[in-house]
Amino acid sequence: MRHLLAALALCLCAVAARADTIIHAGRLIADPRQPAESEKSLVIADGRIKAIVDGYVAGDPEKDRIIDLRSATVLPGLIDSHVHLLFELGPKTALQRLQLSDVDAAFQGAMHARRTLEAGFTTVRDLGDPPDAIFGLRDAIAKGWVMGPRIIAAGSSISGTGGHADVDGYRRKILEMMTPSTICDGPYDCRRAVRTAVKYGADVIKITATGGVLSDAATGLAQQMADDELAEIVRTAHALGRKVAAHAHGADGINAALRAGVDSIEHGSMLDDESIRLFRKTGAWLVPTLLAGRTVAEQAEKGGFLPPAIRDKALRLAPVIRDHIVRAYKAGVRIAFGTDSGVSHHGDNGREFLLLKDIGMKNAEIIATATVNAAELLGLADRIGTLEAGKEADIIAVAGDPLADIAVLQHVGFVMARGHIAKNDF
Ligand SMILES: [Zn+2]
Repeated sequence: MRHLLAALALCLCAVAARADTIIHAGRLIADPRQPAESEKSLVIADGRIKAIVDGYVAGDPEKDRIIDLRSATVLPGLIDSHVHLLFELGPKTALQRLQLSDVDAAFQGAMHARRTLEAGFTTVRDLGDPPDAIFGLRDAIAKGWVMGPRIIAAGSSISGTGGHADVDGYRRKILEMMTPSTICDGPYDCRRAVRTAVKYGADVIKITATGGVLSDAATGLAQQMADDELAEIVRTAHALGRKVAAHAHGADGINAALRAGVDSIEHGSMLDDESIRLFRKTGAWLVPTLLAGRTVAEQAEKGGFLPPAIRDKALRLAPVIRDHIVRAYKAGVRIAFGTDSGVSHHGDNGREFLLLKDIGMKNAEIIATATVNAAELLGLADRIGTLEAGKEADIIAVAGDPLADIAVLQHVGFVMARGHIAKNDF
């Protein structure tokens, strides 16, 4: 009994004496919509930002931990609104789908998650992966069992039979065995698919409104889900408190999805004037994933392992994407950061910053896409996206000034996720 009391006393004492972590920030971009500040201290406790104060406060030298980032720029943790953590495109991808169990896939995803976190991305939205594996990884990270970014996950995408998110490229028996439960035809069946996705753990609903590049089917890039299916999906998802992210390349499918009321268009590669009008009317976000277009085009040009159906679509799309996204940006369409990583290597997410620069965005606007904008799209603006008292301690730092040179965001030297230090090269 005495031992128990002693242990209890020790334990209470440890809680009472819990130290703060204090970050000394040379330059601070707390919110990219505001000017940067210099010489600030961020006080962190219990995974949250307790206060941000002027100057370099000393804290209690006996117990507080000081992190010296006086030579660095400190920013909110980055957010990637479109990744596939359980997948990485390569010559073995098609075979691995058959070889890996859900457990294997989740472990591989944990490796990709760690790389993503070390690149400065403290939150990702996973838009299409085997449900049990990605939900397991999401929950393991949330419980602190595995180090990785916070994951908002869709599980398997909703798609029509033979559509972009259906299984393809294998013999019939395999196709039958691997068809996801979220493949649906007609509004009632698609209502069931949304409910099924939510039942098994989806935080967000991902749909494939048009054909896609990486499905091994020569079925083009135009609208694949019918108007009545799209309307019913959005109605059902919103009623269950879930947002809808629509993969869409062709203008007909982009516009049909926007008319149905989706919350974001993923890719948007061939959007037109009507799309811009609908974006502005509905307030939907565009997640351009320029890095995916670039990566697939690079692979297609090399020849290599991509089957002809995929290569043809990639080469057709590559030269036109940039102009469409430039038009959307100039027209004031709201843009949130997303890479479609998994198509590109996990951990290279920061390359997208250079491609956003290339469409003419200003550096502060580019930083906003991966912080405040993505936080709003994900419905997490009250918890992440800026650095302020009360928000979660998702904090990164880079050498140099990303407002002057956006390329420095490709080399994140310090990462804190929910108060835990994942990396510190300073
Ligand atoms: Zn994707």
